[in-house]
Amino acid sequence: MKKKIEKALKNVILIDNKNIIESGWVKKIDLLNNEIRIHLSLSNPAMHIKNKLIKDITHSIRNQNILDTIRIKTEIKSETKIKPVIKNIIAVASGKGGVGKSTIATNIAVSLVHMGFHVGLLDADIYGPSIPLMFNIENKSVSLQHKNGIINPITSYGVKILSIGFFSKYGEAIVWRGPMVTKVLRQFMHETNWGELDFLIVDLPPGTGDIHLSLLQEIPLKGVVIVSTSQKIALSDVNRSVGMFRIKSIYVPILGIIENMSYFPSPSKETKERYFFFGKNGVRDFSKKMNIFFLGEIPMLQKIREYSDLGIPVVLKNDKIRNIFIKITEHIINQLHE
Ligand code: ADP
Repeated sequence: MKKKIEKALKNVILIDNKNIIESGWVKKIDLLNNEIRIHLSLSNPAMHIKNKLIKDITHSIRNQNILDTIRIKTEIKSETKIKPVIKNIIAVASGKGGVGKSTIATNIAVSLVHMGFHVGLLDADIYGPSIPLMFNIENKSVSLQHKNGIINPITSYGVKILSIGFFSKYGEAIVWRGPMVTKVLRQFMHETNWGELDFLIVDLPPGTGDIHLSLLQEIPLKGVVIVSTSQKIALSDVNRSVGMFRIKSIYVPILGIIENMSYFPSPSKETKERYFFFGKNGVRDFSKKMNIFFLGEIPMLQKIREYSDLGIPVVLKNDKIRNIFIKITEHIINQLHE
């Protein structure tokens, strides 16, 4: 009987192509009188993943010709060392690099602080972690912050920050493989002193790939915000990202899309002319076509680039830009409750 069950569990495959025995999630199998009880322990407490696992396990065991009268029960525990209370985890994603994803993640995080929330920011962009630069904390290393195996995030402008960039020296390349990413993220999620957070913003790597699957499996997201320019090639990559978030086994609600670098305002004070560098309304039209909420547009402004290079979130320095970000952030919060 036990052999049959183990065989059945080996047929439950996760999105990284490992089965749940290989992944080490199965801790114990109890064979009781009229009941098979499977004990699992996993780091990701996301409800939809739990439900899917329970369904797949039951289905796979039933396929082994187990008597209908025997009940199958799956108990899932989360293996956290500490219990941070994080109410909403929201990812910021893009199809392509360089469209302003990290700049926007930064300024949304600081806008949330401005609105009175407790906020964290997790920089998971393994290809180019730029959050430390944008918060002027690139010299900080988390190895200094380790205490009893628990990581303390670094606070800057009221945001608690952890970056995958803290694990490499400036300019040093690290090739992150799936299992390494999984390990680091697990620490970031479960062995970090986040305290109580209303929002944790996660800066995802651009694009779609294996790494994204590992990431999405580790982090229980409430939703994702997509950033793009209106350029055709940027949108074609966003199309792939949308496809990924909408795959059934991954499914993350898309809270909306932001059009960045929408236009470049004329430098002359006399005219209100706008130049549509990357094309006009591309993201807006895309959002309609894909049935995605349009969260707003951000113009291309020298101040945004300058302050981000100085390591100061621009919303702290410019009222007009702050208003744009606050509006977008309010839309995101509303979409969470849709
Ligand atoms: P990504 O995270 O998508 O790779 P970044 O946020 O690092 O992109 O932005 C790339 C560059 O573009 C940065 O130098 C940033 O300051 C600049 N940038 C982003 N958005 C704007 C904008 N709306 N106006 C001007 N510069 C911007």
